[in-house]
Amino acid sequence: MHHFTYRNDELYCEELPVKIIAESVGTPFYLYSHATLSRHFHAFYDAFEGVERLICYSAKANTSLAILKLFASMGGGLDIVSGGELYRGLLAGFPPEKIVYSGVGKRVDEIDMALEKGILMFNVESLEELDLLNQRAGRIGKRAQVALRVNPDVDPKTHPYIATGLKNNKFGIDAESAIEGYKAAKRLPNIRILGIDCHIGSQITEAKPFRDALENLKGLIHELKRLGIPLEYLDMGGGLGIIYDDETPPLPNEYAKAIVDSLKRIHLKLILEPGRVIVGNAGILVAKVLYRKKGKAKEFVIVDAAMNDLIRPSLYHAYHSVWPVVKAGTKTIIADLVGPICESGDFLALDRSIADVKRDDLLAVMSAGAYGFVMSSTYCSRPRIPEVMVRKDRFHVIRERETHEDLVRGESLPPFIT
Ligand SMILES: *Cc1c(COP(=O)(O)O)cnc(C)c1O
Repeated sequence: MHHFTYRNDELYCEELPVKIIAESVGTPFYLYSHATLSRHFHAFYDAFEGVERLICYSAKANTSLAILKLFASMGGGLDIVSGGELYRGLLAGFPPEKIVYSGVGKRVDEIDMALEKGILMFNVESLEELDLLNQRAGRIGKRAQVALRVNPDVDPKTHPYIATGLKNNKFGIDAESAIEGYKAAKRLPNIRILGIDCHIGSQITEAKPFRDALENLKGLIHELKRLGIPLEYLDMGGGLGIIYDDETPPLPNEYAKAIVDSLKRIHLKLILEPGRVIVGNAGILVAKVLYRKKGKAKEFVIVDAAMNDLIRPSLYHAYHSVWPVVKAGTKTIIADLVGPICESGDFLALDRSIADVKRDDLLAVMSAGAYGFVMSSTYCSRPRIPEVMVRKDRFHVIRERETHEDLVRGESLPPFIT
């Protein structure tokens, strides 16, 4: 599934020992495998063979320019959720006509930018947004191409923070209101109805919620057709899960089958917005052991990476495997893997059986390619860490380590404080 493997007890990324990279760039850092990224993109794309489709990689999972450029060069489209992601996407070479724009809180300036660039489609999340789009498009003599994001009210059986298609979530428009929304959209002169969209959540490990969502949308699609509102695109969003621990998510082929089987009779072009499934297992976080410490109740391994670098364990209680970069024996300990930040919530793993490491040993926090670096912050004035990409036996720093000067960039002192 990925290209992080041991050779003679040393962890390699493709053809390169992780330790060599650590010696060169210092720790902590994110490390991505080019072969894994391209392979995952291909596997996902190929799974829908025979279906007219656009794979709009979901930028927010990992917005590194190098990664975006890779997927753009492979013919991918992009799913964005902000003006900043649009900026990055265009810089990386995505054609605007392959970009879809989701999100409940699109600002006027962001809408204007996307209209000006001529993106494929806005996934509209409220009727007020629809009106605003109509207004802003009219101002520059364009028509905004839209899909309504429908909330199909299915339970994706994932962490509540990343379930997005339930009726109590802020996302999308419920199915009944959607019909009214489409009727309204049809009356708006500067709106062109292009499709229908849903995104039910993330890290979904069964096919059924996707199938259920699609069934709900199909009802709507037929109803819209009866009302004289034909559609061109069906956007099924993202959300396919990956293996972090012992999950058994459907493979892209199985996921595709679940959708395509049910799609046969509607003849819409398919858009998919995969994020995690493409990049999640293509990246790791490499950290160095600073200290070991035995408390009364627990043993701690303190490393130089922290919750500001990878927040998923703290935020979602997410599980990430922890591997030694060099295996120095078979002895293991049970410990909490924690960072230097002054919060009890600062951990990367809890009560985990890990290698019996010592000071200066390197550890790899696995499956950190999605929602890793992009969610990092400079909390506690910790500069953001570098991102490195490996291709075969070469590596390239695709984002350098921030400096202390970077931390204070843009700050200024008011004259009334002397
Ligand atoms: C986050 C998001 C995605 C990607 O989700 P994954 O679980 O990473 O595949 C796709 N579409 C929308 C609208 C999103 O918000």
